Amino acid sequence: MIKITQLKIPLEGGYDEILSAAAKALKCPKRAIISLEITRKAIDSRKKNNIFFVYNVEAEVDGDENSVVSKSGSSKVSIGERFEYKQPELRRKSTLRPVIAGFGPAGMLAALTLAREGLNPIILERGNDVDKRNQDVRNLWQNRELNTDSNIQFGEGGAGAFSDGKLTTGIKDKLCRKVFLELEAHGAPNEILYSAKPHIGTDKLGKVVKNIRKEIVSLGGEIRFGCRLTNIIVVNGVIHGVSVIEQGASRDIETDALILAIGHSARDTVEMLFNKGIRMMQKPFSVGARIEHPREMIDAAQYGSFANHPLLGAADYKLACHPEHGRGAYTFCM
Ligand SMILES: Cc1cc2nc3c(=O)[nH]c(=O)nc-3n(C[C@H](O)[C@H](O)[C@H](O)COP(=O)(O)OP(=O)(O)OC[C@H]3O[C@@H](n4cnc5c(N)ncnc54)[C@H](O)[C@@H]3O)c2cc1C
Repeated sequence: MIKITQLKIPLEGGYDEILSAAAKALKCPKRAIISLEITRKAIDSRKKNNIFFVYNVEAEVDGDENSVVSKSGSSKVSIGERFEYKQPELRRKSTLRPVIAGFGPAGMLAALTLAREGLNPIILERGNDVDKRNQDVRNLWQNRELNTDSNIQFGEGGAGAFSDGKLTTGIKDKLCRKVFLELEAHGAPNEILYSAKPHIGTDKLGKVVKNIRKEIVSLGGEIRFGCRLTNIIVVNGVIHGVSVIEQGASRDIETDALILAIGHSARDTVEMLFNKGIRMMQKPFSVGARIEHPREMIDAAQYGSFANHPLLGAADYKLACHPEHGRGAYTFCM
């Protein structure tokens, strides 16, 4: 497969313009391109009187790819490797079911992985499923009644479930692609696979979460909502089980494998782990502030006379500063 980067396409340009630009970069006729997949789409708005899209694509060509690449003579054309996820080799011998605490993004992906290996994971989630959780959150906003186990932070989908589903990360790990592929396979818009600012949307987020849950359950996983991990049963340094409070009643579950996917806000659970002497590592963190601007102001600043262009949507920005004292600041998830 051949990778082509930085194809500049006018705003109104469609697939044919992208194909033509790819053929031009490869110095081959359009018909020699057997397949073309967009891998990134971004907006270049540096010149306010000439705003265009910039695409990266992957192409399959008729003929020897190496010679097409060298004939192109362009630094923007190279041989690429398609991302392929390899499920780690299963070495588990135990017949006990693994337990995962938390059904946010980390717990969902862990549960999918284990369920696909036939390990029938048990997932403990202190909050409610997405529909009941919606009611819990509405109850807080309307009646000021807080459910301490099911709210904006806790419940199916995790802490970002009430966001608008922007998929923002500062890390450049190959596995990010795997996460995006899973989200798309479970109902997120296809654009997340190539958009420079991938975004699921509040309306679709709940559906994606439910679809992931359905697959886990169909493969033999069990998700227990309203079920809080309260203790880890450790004997001679080995985990023998966990204690939970489920619908007000306390009980133990036997297991020898536990994944903690409890997010940032479960202070009681972190305290329990600390009190049990479980080794934990501190992680640096950033402190966030929310800034609100009128959309028209940002659109005008970024797009100039192109503001409100129907093909551009709302503009955004990304800023960072690195002062000498070493504590930087950056915008995140606009
Ligand atoms: C308001 C808000 C908006 C956000 N918006 C975005 C965004 O737009 N884009 C973005 O990329 N990131 C966003 N984030 C950050 C993102 O939500 C987190 O990075 C992500 O949710 C972390 O995933 P996680 O699975 O590690 O933890 P979490 O999502 O926090 O999930 C942990 C889960 O564990 C459960 N749990 C905790 N303790 C226990 C226990 N003892 N027993 C059982 N269950 C337990 C909790 O109920 C929770 O559901 C947002 C965060 C917030 C709070």
